[in-house]
Amino acid sequence: MRAVFLLGLLLPISTGATDIEPLPQFDIRIKPLTLDEPRFTMSGSIRFCAKSGRKVAFVIPRGSTYSFTRNGAALDVSPQEGIDWPCEPGAAITFFGTSPVSMPKCGASHQEIYCLNRSLPNPEVISDSSRYQLHFELLKGYGGLSPDPSIALNYGIQFQIAQFAAPRRRKTKHFTFEYQFPKDFSPEDGYLDFIEKTLEDHAPMFGALPFHKVLVGAIRRGETTGEISGSPAGNLILFSRTALRDKPNLESLRGMGIQADVSDALRKMVIAHELSHFWFGRSFTGKDGWMVEGIPNYIGLVAVAKGSKGDYAELRKLFEYMDSQGPPGPIPNSPFGNGPLYIRAYYQGSLALAKIGDVVGHEKVLELVAGVYRHNADPAFADFDEAFKKAFPSQAALWTAAWKLTPQSGAQPGK
Ligand SMILES: [Zn+2]
Repeated sequence: MRAVFLLGLLLPISTGATDIEPLPQFDIRIKPLTLDEPRFTMSGSIRFCAKSGRKVAFVIPRGSTYSFTRNGAALDVSPQEGIDWPCEPGAAITFFGTSPVSMPKCGASHQEIYCLNRSLPNPEVISDSSRYQLHFELLKGYGGLSPDPSIALNYGIQFQIAQFAAPRRRKTKHFTFEYQFPKDFSPEDGYLDFIEKTLEDHAPMFGALPFHKVLVGAIRRGETTGEISGSPAGNLILFSRTALRDKPNLESLRGMGIQADVSDALRKMVIAHELSHFWFGRSFTGKDGWMVEGIPNYIGLVAVAKGSKGDYAELRKLFEYMDSQGPPGPIPNSPFGNGPLYIRAYYQGSLALAKIGDVVGHEKVLELVAGVYRHNADPAFADFDEAFKKAFPSQAALWTAAWKLTPQSGAQPGK
């Protein structure tokens, strides 16, 4: 199964291929047209060695002006079925143009710019993942922050442009953390401790990552709305300033019965959720939406519970409220999607895990999840069902109730 993220949709592309193809290699020069909006001229080259006979399809961002050449001649990369790309060593396709006027996951303010994965400012080649070497052409005093180029990215490029302070480096048992924040921002150090502890806790459970150095940045995403967010890509994770210090907006929680100031708990939940995406949604997938977003949310809740049972109880109200707004019926066997499927994936799946963890222990549930993924990186609900019933044979009723299963809807073995 191959997947590329295109304009907000995950498009699975079945190739039937069994042998491994080398990844497309991008070399991209990025020059902002201004520091007041996320708009760039981009030029560069793409090297790729497609298996003989396979056509290679491009994704050109709508509203961009990219043109392409190969061996000095203009090249039309627009055919939907793709183009032939014979494997000649050194034969690169080059491109030049301007990014679209607006991209959903890019932003600019206060002379800072960010583009997150899935924003697609540059031309892309449809592939499992690609490698990107980014170069920035910037005014004096500005710098570019992007993932390590040796790490393949699944959802395109991600970067921040800002005036940065000197990086802060801190070491833990498994990782080196490099914090690269804008000059006018400093986090609460407690959140750096939390980031490090959380990743150290998860690494032995979920397995080694393809990197030891973790880059952490802070962007002005959601600064007008007060949202807390984080976006991992490769070994770089860009948190909103609200995740590390700035005051978030908690108004929307009031209607869900949460009156307490849960800023700290919410930050920790989001930080742990986003860090878990170093595994979930990358090397760990799954047939149901909750496996890619509900497990990270549950991991976030458990990280909060470790610090404060009271905070956990408060945040659980958010999940209970969202559950009540979501679709009725069995939670499993629903893919990721919008609307009801979104609530099912993010909230109903994680609440089911929380209900089970409340009884059997949250660490036990996390171990069970990790065990399922050790056997199968793309599991179905039946895999969790089987593992749980084997580990906790006396708790079948708890399992059935938490997932809202009926006798007809239970997982069928082998499904
Ligand atoms: Zn997520």
